[in-house]
Amino acid sequence: MFPESTNIIRMDPKKTFVIIGGGAAGIFAAITAAELDPQAHVIVLEKTRQLLAKVRISGGGRCNVTHSAFDPKLLVQHYPRGNKELLGPFHRFQPKDTIDWFLKRNVRLKTEEDGRMFPTTDSSETIASCLLAEARRLNVEIRLEQKIEKIQKKDEGFLITLEEEEPLSCDKLLIATGSFPQGHEFARAFGHTIVPPVPSLFTFNVPTSPLLDLSGIAVPDAIVRIQGTAWKQRGPVLITHWGFSGPAALKLSAWAARELHRHNYRVDLVVQWVPDRTTEEVEKILLEIKSSKPQRAIENEALFKLPLNLWKRLVRLAGIAEQNPLSRVSNAHLKQLAKLCTAHPFKVEGKTTYKQEFVTCGGVLLKEVDFKRMESRLVKNLFFSGEVLDIDGVTGGFNFQNAWTSGWIAGNAMSETQPTT
Ligand SMILES: Cc1cc2nc3c(=O)[nH]c(=O)nc-3n(C[C@H](O)[C@H](O)[C@H](O)COP(=O)(O)OP(=O)(O)OC[C@H]3O[C@@H](n4cnc5c(N)ncnc54)[C@H](O)[C@@H]3O)c2cc1C
Repeated sequence: MFPESTNIIRMDPKKTFVIIGGGAAGIFAAITAAELDPQAHVIVLEKTRQLLAKVRISGGGRCNVTHSAFDPKLLVQHYPRGNKELLGPFHRFQPKDTIDWFLKRNVRLKTEEDGRMFPTTDSSETIASCLLAEARRLNVEIRLEQKIEKIQKKDEGFLITLEEEEPLSCDKLLIATGSFPQGHEFARAFGHTIVPPVPSLFTFNVPTSPLLDLSGIAVPDAIVRIQGTAWKQRGPVLITHWGFSGPAALKLSAWAARELHRHNYRVDLVVQWVPDRTTEEVEKILLEIKSSKPQRAIENEALFKLPLNLWKRLVRLAGIAEQNPLSRVSNAHLKQLAKLCTAHPFKVEGKTTYKQEFVTCGGVLLKEVDFKRMESRLVKNLFFSGEVLDIDGVTGGFNFQNAWTSGWIAGNAMSETQPTT
């Protein structure tokens, strides 16, 4: 953290760039602009006492910086909102560039099995310190605890009225306020449309679930879908003491964020524990086992690679008595077990914030922004980057990648130089 706000006095700076918001996107843009245009006076106005607060707490304190998805076409598929618009930007600055950027500053990233990338130190402080050292080296002026009253357009530039300080003029302005409402207000005042913000990336509350006491069991491959809609996701599902979490549930919450909000987070959820088989196929397998091993108690050996405790619970929920040999289990009960394996119904009644990462769906309407420059199509010299836009990714490092990419492009455009990578 900057020990205190820095005040840098320059002789006749050519241009002044003000960046509102000292998060990942704002700081990355400030560094990029200051590096490309050393004559410019780059000022970051941050409302709190700390820069990069989310970077520090991100990824459970480890900061999931980016993801090892290096093909822009595949990378954009991880963004429920912004996938079309980010394709061009990712051709200019993508995870490989993020890795190189940090490596050039002596920060190495490592890839985990699922593609998430973290600093090798496993500490978010490594990322925050690197960014702040760069900002300091490049003489970016940091002003903490700034209260902005209003922003007015003045000729080609802007006049920023601050609550406790002299008004500030600038040639170019970047709004990088994340999902905080004031950033949306500023954008709205300039004529921008704000897509109403709603939460994304959360877990499902299912208070009536008969699986709650199995909390902690992870099913590596299942499908979760919202009944009556086309929304579904496949991947690991984690049974929790309040309902469901895990990558498949989180992805579903992101892609269906608006639909779920519309239904006040009360929907019918269907879990397909056995993702590659139909109910009929599962039933057939169960009947075959019944005829080949009639003495076997079905619950003793889990089928379809399901965790044994979950399997036992499904057997019980199907109405099959404990340790009953298959010869004494009715075909109707086996049919019921097949149904639970392939279409287990649950009632979602609310959501719980996921502890490691949450984002906001909604923000500045994307078609009002030129993604070649991250510049407003309505107001010249006004820029946006990061989560203030109607962009959000699923969990895995994609949200920071959006911040790095859009910050880098805005920084380039503000400095009016050609991209260097
Ligand atoms: C707990 C948690 C963990 C996360 N972990 C990860 C992760 O590991 N990987 C990942 O990819 N994503 C993660 N995310 C998401 C990621 O943190 C955000 O998508 C990212 O920080 C967005 O960057 P940003 O710069 O756009 O906004 P922010 O990081 O939110 O920064 C915005 C800044 O603007 C300031 N600001 C707001 N309004 C004003 C104003 N009016 N005047 C001045 N300043 C203002 C704020 O104080 C803040 O400093 C996590 C999110 C959370 C909440």
